Amino acid sequence: MVGMLSLMPMQVVKVLQHIQKLERNGMLLQALGVTARHFLAAYGLSLCVRGLVTWRTCLLGACLWPVSGLGVTAGAHRLWSHRSFQASRPLEVMLLFMYSMADQGPIGGWALTHAMHHSASDTRHDPHNRREGFWHAHFGWLFSARKYRLSSKEYHTVMDGLSELVHLHDTACLVWDPLVSLGVPALLAYTWGDAWAGFFVAGAVRWAFVQHVTFLVNSMAHGELGTEGHDFIAATGTIGPRVSLLTTILALGEGWHDYHHMFPWDYAAAELDAWDQWNPTKAFIDTCALVGLVTGRRRCSVRLQTATRQLMLGNSKVDSYVVEGPPFLRNRKPVLLGNSKLAAVSSKPATRESMEPCLKRTWILDWMSLLRHLLCGHYQQSRDEVHLEYLHTMCQKLMHRCQTLIYA
Ligand SMILES: [Zn+2]
Ligand SMILES: [Zn+2]
Repeated sequence: MVGMLSLMPMQVVKVLQHIQKLERNGMLLQALGVTARHFLAAYGLSLCVRGLVTWRTCLLGACLWPVSGLGVTAGAHRLWSHRSFQASRPLEVMLLFMYSMADQGPIGGWALTHAMHHSASDTRHDPHNRREGFWHAHFGWLFSARKYRLSSKEYHTVMDGLSELVHLHDTACLVWDPLVSLGVPALLAYTWGDAWAGFFVAGAVRWAFVQHVTFLVNSMAHGELGTEGHDFIAATGTIGPRVSLLTTILALGEGWHDYHHMFPWDYAAAELDAWDQWNPTKAFIDTCALVGLVTGRRRCSVRLQTATRQLMLGNSKVDSYVVEGPPFLRNRKPVLLGNSKLAAVSSKPATRESMEPCLKRTWILDWMSLLRHLLCGHYQQSRDEVHLEYLHTMCQKLMHRCQTLIYA
């Protein structure tokens, strides 16, 4: 073997060694699966270009985009990774089927990768570290042989919280998910005599589209933070989570990403309501709650949102906040002292209470939650996750208030 390798060009040797490393680390199957599906999608695209797809099949593919997309955003992300709401058994079964349509691997693996991302985002401990470049964060990380580690506690926090249905899915997903993702569209298209295109277009092309839309959250919704605009985290000149309108539109409301990293346990993953900030995933969860399929939605109060933004901005000159912009693309912006005219002409109230009263966490509960984290002194990924940086700022603010009281 060594003799054979010495005869090969250096590039080929490097590729073979990388494949061996992927195999050793148990990542080869994933890399091969993603590559093979892209070949299927490329063939599906060629069918589209050659006009060999009926309009019904195209419509089917378009309809399966939000169906499989919600399986990822409402299911894998907001339910199974962050547990930001509780789903009834029928809804969980439905979300599992929708997630299988998206075919993004075992949910346990998805949630563990996401836990690592949140606990060390944009550092070398983040599997899709954006500091290593846009394409690495987009999908290059899937072909990386690097190993990442989670503490035993973090691992059990994620895995023990998954239901037996999810574990059942994960044991069967290698066969079951491709069957649902490619087989069901083919079966549906078969009813109008277009099974071939159903498999390759409504199945494979749609799969690739949803997959890349999910990747956009890692690549486009992380990047250089600006000085202006609606960045919730106002640090400049660094890489971090940020607002991406394209990601928000394509990924069903997942692009309000700075806010999501600040309050990962908020089921909306956005500061404002779905009518203010495009968020079909939130609308879907709310609709499910309306018919009794969802309970225990966790939402950050407007007051805590405002306090956090003010602390992160580090700006004591903020007078109030206004909600600005066209429907679905609104932001809450600070109004500086001496510029209160802006607040007066705004059509929106500065402190907009967009949530139903029963969903709002009270000011006292917010602070109690923070205090508990301060006392416990550890970072917890699951239900009560609070950003470390946020805690640090809160401590500074508390100390500042104490000093003001003492010396005033
Ligand atoms: Zn992120
Ligand atoms: Zn998240």
